[in-house]
Amino acid sequence: MHTALQTLTELIHSGGRIVVLTGAGISAESGIPTFRGPDGYWTVGSTVYRPQDLATWRTFASDPRLVWPWYIWRREVCLESEPNDAHLALVQLEEHLGNRLTLVTQNVDGLHHRAGSSLNRTMEIHGNINFFRCAQGCEPRRPCPNLPHVRDDPTFHESWKDTLTCRQCSGWMRPHVLWFDEYYDEELYRFESAIRATENADALIVVGTTGTTSLPAHMLAIAQHKGMVLVDINPAPNPFAEAATQTQGGWLRSSATAGMTAIMSAANL
Ligand SMILES: [Zn+2]
Repeated sequence: MHTALQTLTELIHSGGRIVVLTGAGISAESGIPTFRGPDGYWTVGSTVYRPQDLATWRTFASDPRLVWPWYIWRREVCLESEPNDAHLALVQLEEHLGNRLTLVTQNVDGLHHRAGSSLNRTMEIHGNINFFRCAQGCEPRRPCPNLPHVRDDPTFHESWKDTLTCRQCSGWMRPHVLWFDEYYDEELYRFESAIRATENADALIVVGTTGTTSLPAHMLAIAQHKGMVLVDINPAPNPFAEAATQTQGGWLRSSATAGMTAIMSAANL
């Protein structure tokens, strides 16, 4: 019987194109919380803000001094974490496959870049917390410098204002992340490129995501429509796992690091 690992090994060594979609599960093994639930709650005085309150254009536009300290704190959490073996395996896979690999990530923590995945072949469809850009769009994204900050302090420090001001229009810079009340696009988040890569792929490997946002669901629909090989790496049952068992791929019921290590070792990479 053909297993998911055998199928992938053959594709890897016979010119196949592979898209890998990663989500919170791969970052969790580096100690990064999802920030979407209670881990992302933010207390200012007696008010507790939820991530879906803070991560919106609407809130930022009305009160950037509320939103920025939350991002500065989140960025610190991300910078204190290190890429894990699953991130490193994807770097190795890219070294072997070159342009036959496209990495699509929902994570904004920047760990794929820090591990060594190339900017060119990595589509950060929700952005990257290590970058910022002009809120009005006149200055493209650039790396956000470190801002002196006391951990968990929700206060906005006016000494940050210069750094967070656009050099062109003197308006606010904003985090380079997709907010709840915003839409995917190509220019900022490479939405079309992610779709196109999926349409042209022979296999889709899904690592640590349950696909609750619309792009992963769309990628799954493309994979099913085209009868692609689908491999899901996830310790818990989810829609990708179920769909994967109906293809020549399958469900690797494991953590991101164990699953990616198994793929690399089966392919002798
Ligand atoms: Zn500007």
